Amino acid sequence: MLSFWELQSFLTYDTIIIGSGIVGLSTAISIKEKDTSQNILVIERGSFPSGASTKNAGFACFGSVSELMADLEVMSEEEIVALVDERVNGLQLLRLRLGDDEIDYKQYGGYELIFEGQEHIVENIGKINALLNPIFGEDVFVQKDEMIAEFGFDTEKVKHLIYNKFEGQLDTGKMMKELLNEAQKLGIKVITGSKVVTYQEKEEGVKVVTNNLDLGESFAFNCERLFVCTNAFTKELLEDVDLEPGRGQVLVTKPIEGLTFKGVFHYDEGYYYFRNFGDRVIFGGGRNLDFEEEKTTDMKNTETIINGLSQHLTEIILPETEFEIDHQWAGIMAFGKNKQPIVKQVSDRIFLGVRLGGMGVAIGSKMGERLSEMIFQEA
Ligand SMILES: Cc1cc2nc3c(=O)[nH]c(=O)nc-3n(C[C@H](O)[C@H](O)[C@H](O)COP(=O)(O)OP(=O)(O)OC[C@H]3O[C@@H](n4cnc5c(N)ncnc54)[C@H](O)[C@@H]3O)c2cc1C
Repeated sequence: MLSFWELQSFLTYDTIIIGSGIVGLSTAISIKEKDTSQNILVIERGSFPSGASTKNAGFACFGSVSELMADLEVMSEEEIVALVDERVNGLQLLRLRLGDDEIDYKQYGGYELIFEGQEHIVENIGKINALLNPIFGEDVFVQKDEMIAEFGFDTEKVKHLIYNKFEGQLDTGKMMKELLNEAQKLGIKVITGSKVVTYQEKEEGVKVVTNNLDLGESFAFNCERLFVCTNAFTKELLEDVDLEPGRGQVLVTKPIEGLTFKGVFHYDEGYYYFRNFGDRVIFGGGRNLDFEEEKTTDMKNTETIINGLSQHLTEIILPETEFEIDHQWAGIMAFGKNKQPIVKQVSDRIFLGVRLGGMGVAIGSKMGERLSEMIFQEA
């Protein structure tokens, strides 16, 4: 039974946010930056943020040529430019808010690997550069085939390299720790180990019901408005939301002496991506090897995909280098029919910020900013 004091002091807030991923925390921070008097609670089911935001590969990217070409098949040019612009702005906001040193942001640039039969991607560089010119004011993508051998890739397989100087990389763990620190500095309360099982919107406010994993207790919190920032796990709370989970697999090698490349790398429309982390290689993707099996919120490693990734490492990326896998993990993203995130007010007191796809590091802070603006427009 709750005490009189607990009932008085711990259960009522102006704003409650479900999910302490990059979107949930950025939303809380953006609201507090606009109105310091807001009493905000973020509720997280894990012992710490436990969704895609702590499982990702730390690419600060905006979309490769092949990804943007694929997007052009399902989105208009205007929509794509607006989306890339939000990723660019989101990353700027994240870096400004947290500081490059604090999150180990490094702008080593990014490269797309082009294989035999994919030459049409290179032919589209000019078209994609023209499309993105209003954002960057200069060409984003240039060919750098001379780096293929220098990086040590298999020159029989990799035919071209497309370079993008604007891409960067960061330390995902540090980014999320810093976001939590920033939230704490601003007086935002974050409770962990509490899963929201349901909520009820009423005329006088929203009742948010949690199950506390440690105590096995159920609590009812109250707020004026609720933000649902649960990304791939949203269907547990809002059945009709238009998204599908997609599991992503990542592995990291042990340090490799004399590692020959630095930067972030992608291929096959972003389905594969790798980067250096110091002298280790972080390699992720391969969801396209078994789309149906990977449409899940179960964070289990998949043997088939790990084997596929290891084979790519041996045959394409590190053909001349001995390496050992040090660790592997899986995380869950959320996808829709196109790359547009869902950022909207769903009813009087309920707001939704989900479906960030595979580039949430860049766009996440911007989504938080947009969600926060909705309540101030409302006021
Ligand atoms: C393997 C992998 C690699 C990736 N690599 C990159 C990359 O390199 N660059 C990039 O830009 N993006 C990458 N992404 C995508 C990026 O991580 C996501 O787009 C972004 O983190 C989504 O943030 P979010 O806050 O919306 O969701 P999440 O981080 O998933 O946050 C949702 C939070 O809600 C919590 N939650 C869910 N349900 C409840 C509930 N009922 N009650 C309480 N809490 C709940 C979860 O525990 C979680 O902490 C990758 C994703 C994965 C999985």
